[in-house]
Amino acid sequence: MAFPNRAKYLIIGAGIHGLSAAWHLGLAMQAKGQTPRNEDGATDILVIDKGGIASGASGIACGVVRNNYFQPAMRELMAHSVGIWESDAEAFSYHRVGYMQISPESMHADVAQIAKEQKEIGYTSTFVEGEADSMAYMRDMFDDWQAKGITSVLHETRGGYANNTAAIYGLAGKAEATGARILTGVTVTGFKTGGGAVTAVETDRGVIEAENVVVAVGPWVKTFWDMLGLPKTVDIKGADGKMHTDIPMWEYWSLQEGTLGVDPDLQKTNRGRMPPVIHVDTDAPLYSDVDGSLITDQLWGIYYKPDTNFGGIQGGAMPFKLETNPDDVAVDPYGPESPDFVVGDEFAHMWCSALAFCQKRFEGQTPKYKN
Ligand SMILES: Cc1cc2nc3c(=O)[nH]c(=O)nc-3n(C[C@H](O)[C@H](O)[C@H](O)COP(=O)(O)OP(=O)(O)OC[C@H]3O[C@@H](n4cnc5c(N)ncnc54)[C@H](O)[C@@H]3O)c2cc1C
Repeated sequence: MAFPNRAKYLIIGAGIHGLSAAWHLGLAMQAKGQTPRNEDGATDILVIDKGGIASGASGIACGVVRNNYFQPAMRELMAHSVGIWESDAEAFSYHRVGYMQISPESMHADVAQIAKEQKEIGYTSTFVEGEADSMAYMRDMFDDWQAKGITSVLHETRGGYANNTAAIYGLAGKAEATGARILTGVTVTGFKTGGGAVTAVETDRGVIEAENVVVAVGPWVKTFWDMLGLPKTVDIKGADGKMHTDIPMWEYWSLQEGTLGVDPDLQKTNRGRMPPVIHVDTDAPLYSDVDGSLITDQLWGIYYKPDTNFGGIQGGAMPFKLETNPDDVAVDPYGPESPDFVVGDEFAHMWCSALAFCQKRFEGQTPKYKN
């Protein structure tokens, strides 16, 4: 099929957002009795990506699926999204093992609010409060549980995790089945505009005229913002009603994740089942599992789950803000391929010590990790 020069919907980015948009546009057309057109030169739903399917954040994410976000607006949205994961667990490589938010007193009220909102919309979860009851609940699941400073446990029985790349390929299959076309190895280099709107997208393979453009480029979004000549700062009205002016439009955050090379079965529950995703936040001091030195006495957090693909335990820690000027942050090469973003010994040390802080079975595990 020739390179298309026209599209009704042109979606840039073949990650979870771009492919989900393509799939749902295809479903919407089908619901109207239409089949997306796919001819030489013209196509109705076209996804383009400079790399391949899942070559951005969607292909390296831990894949945790949860309904645990502090913004109340997320509650129903996440319940809806979890329903989509459940609708075809096999195609999405989705594991409904549940998710646990295990928290210190400083987070108790916020997590209680999440639990309340989940209950109100019938999203199934168990909320345990108090230090002794939290410990008893965790020990009933893992007899070696030992995390300190915990006063609440929110156990979502829906949610869990999906294998990242497999999930995105599953989504691509669904988008294509509705008639969408996916073209990889096509880099967007600019836009043509007219009458105050984008009329066409310039790529390294030619210009594509588009009636509608969806920019779903994840961490590359600043490049697109700059291509469109949009402002570097914004004015934002705060919750206090005050206007905050000249706020930088972009800042970058880095999220570190790793894999501990152990038998994934090591993390099975007392009942021999695969465990839920475990997310622990605590303000109890974290000491090194190697030499006993203090790693932090500030609030810290980790999450982890078995990963049968890597053959180990996979997870991460809290993200941190990059202090580099956003104009100087190189997003490419992306993720583990970037020498700037490969996790080092410090992360491995912290993460393995944190695992041992939570469960005795991880004590003394040599940090063999991938980022
Ligand atoms: C380490 C890590 C762990 C995470 N863990 C989780 C998690 O457990 N659960 C969760 O819900 N979220 C998680 N996230 C967040 C989640 O991964 C992202 O929010 C999500 O994947 C973003 O998807 P996207 O489709 O918007 O972008 P991406 O998946 O990044 O896709 C963007 C695509 O745009 C393409 N592109 C960029 N520039 C161009 C161009 N010029 N021309 C053409 N194509 C272009 C890229 O090649 C890429 O394929 C994690 C993120 C990271 C980094």
